[in-house]
Amino acid sequence: MAENLIERTPSSYYYPLLIKNLLRNPVRQFPNQEIVYGDFKRLTYRDLDERINRLASGLTALGVKRGDTVAVMDWDTNRYLECFFAVPMLGAVLHTVNVRLSPEQILYTINHAEDDVILVNTEFLPVLETIRERIEPVKKLVLLNDTGFTPATTLDITVEYEALLAASDPHFNFPDFPEDTRATTFYTTGTTGLPKGVYFSHRQLVLHTMAVLAALSGPGQGRLNRGDVYLPITPMFHVHAWGIPYVATTLGLKQVYPGRYVPEHLLTLIQREGVTFSHCVPTILQMLLSSSKIDEIDLSRWKVTIGGSALPQALAKQALDRGVDVFTAYGMSETCPILSFSQLKPHMMEWDEERQLEFRCKTGLAIPMVDLRVVDPDMNDVPHDGKTSGEVVARAPWLTQGYLKDSRNSEMLWEGGYLHTGDIGVIDEEGYLKITDRLKDVIKTGGEWISSLELEDLILKHPSVAEAAVVGVPDPKWGERPVALVVTKLGRELDLAGVRDWLKGFADKGIISKWGIPDRVLFVETIPKTSVGKLNKKAMREQYAEMIQNS
Ligand code: AMP
Repeated sequence: MAENLIERTPSSYYYPLLIKNLLRNPVRQFPNQEIVYGDFKRLTYRDLDERINRLASGLTALGVKRGDTVAVMDWDTNRYLECFFAVPMLGAVLHTVNVRLSPEQILYTINHAEDDVILVNTEFLPVLETIRERIEPVKKLVLLNDTGFTPATTLDITVEYEALLAASDPHFNFPDFPEDTRATTFYTTGTTGLPKGVYFSHRQLVLHTMAVLAALSGPGQGRLNRGDVYLPITPMFHVHAWGIPYVATTLGLKQVYPGRYVPEHLLTLIQREGVTFSHCVPTILQMLLSSSKIDEIDLSRWKVTIGGSALPQALAKQALDRGVDVFTAYGMSETCPILSFSQLKPHMMEWDEERQLEFRCKTGLAIPMVDLRVVDPDMNDVPHDGKTSGEVVARAPWLTQGYLKDSRNSEMLWEGGYLHTGDIGVIDEEGYLKITDRLKDVIKTGGEWISSLELEDLILKHPSVAEAAVVGVPDPKWGERPVALVVTKLGRELDLAGVRDWLKGFADKGIISKWGIPDRVLFVETIPKTSVGKLNKKAMREQYAEMIQNS
């Protein structure tokens, strides 16, 4: 009822939740704190603040105004961090372009987002050259150049980034505007259909930052505190590197931006810069742990949260054995992204490592303000018994309110007033969610639902297995049957019987249903991944269709 609305003194300031308000205190309180860009640049928070002001002045001089869209095509750099702040703070929209998409998809996203200016790293000039005839209308291009040379290109470059900053006013008066103003846009990397644009407001990014900060701070396992050194290893183009650059900046942390991800270079940075906190997908963690350099690196102070796909227990164990504090994060492009972390509760710290491992690899506890439910098709909560599965749906202050210019898919996403994740999960008595599959990947065999993720996790525990994926294939008798794709470790041998015997051991203990044991296993060289390093099950079904048929 309106009568309880608070009274506002005419002179009072109504404080909008704007991204600029995250930046003020760290700049004042930690002016000399460092930000490092690989081997290229070291700057302080004082410099960061000045460069953000210069960038806003420079973009304004290029004609960027409130409501315009500025696209960035770059690896993880200090420049990207500057854009994370300057672009939304001046009232424009930051479009973080997924540079791993195909040129056709990149073209689609640039046109669909209606970008006005594109900041482009020298490395991606060839991509823009192939599509420039079809970019509409022609954009202004700002060059991001680390090469030290003027690149040979047929594109019309408006200005180079550092030159733009050098020539621009270091004082920009960032205005107030409504907190519901759109701050960012990017496109989901789904394996089907056209990319779909999601979008987040200032208010949403500020609240996401605050809630993630609350979830990660304080004593205990899996925390981020003042004194930590942050290195992102999920790209800044993908869901704002999970929003952690905003969190790290708000805390005034030392930050290290690695450029393009090269495992040996990442390990060097971790060692040299004293990195203590990162996030990545399981495949990257796997690459780091398998590097020939790994034995030279002390990872015992490193905390790493793993998301984007389920964290296999075998991988988590490998990390724990090196002293890494490893735990899961969960979310998706549509959710800004973070919904949960699998931090251990205090009483679990007394548990043995194996039991802790199980919980570190669950999908986690919802972070503050997230309403995370597992529901049946009628939207009733399923029992929290760790067994009954249903679809994961969510509400939180920071979920995309729709897909850009796509009301049909937006309505489907938000059907019934909850955001539908398309994930299947269970919640246990402790309140921990565990994702068991994607709705479209779950294997329905003879009336039973078999979790492909669980099978993958168990196959990966086999000492001879390097990579594993399980897909459902049509079967005239059972509806579907699981087929496993396995990459063996170098010099190791394994056959169908070996995989089946291994899984039978788990079926005998009641861990999986015996119907889940694949009767076909394909031994392959590599397993297809998506642009962000996830198992690409659609590509697998296509690529191996014939082998699957004939196996
Ligand atoms: P994206 O929008 O590309 O970030 O993909 C989001 C999807 O990745 C989610 O809907 C899940 O299917 C999957 N995902 C993300 N984090 C996890 C996790 N911790 N465990 C299992 N699946 C995950």
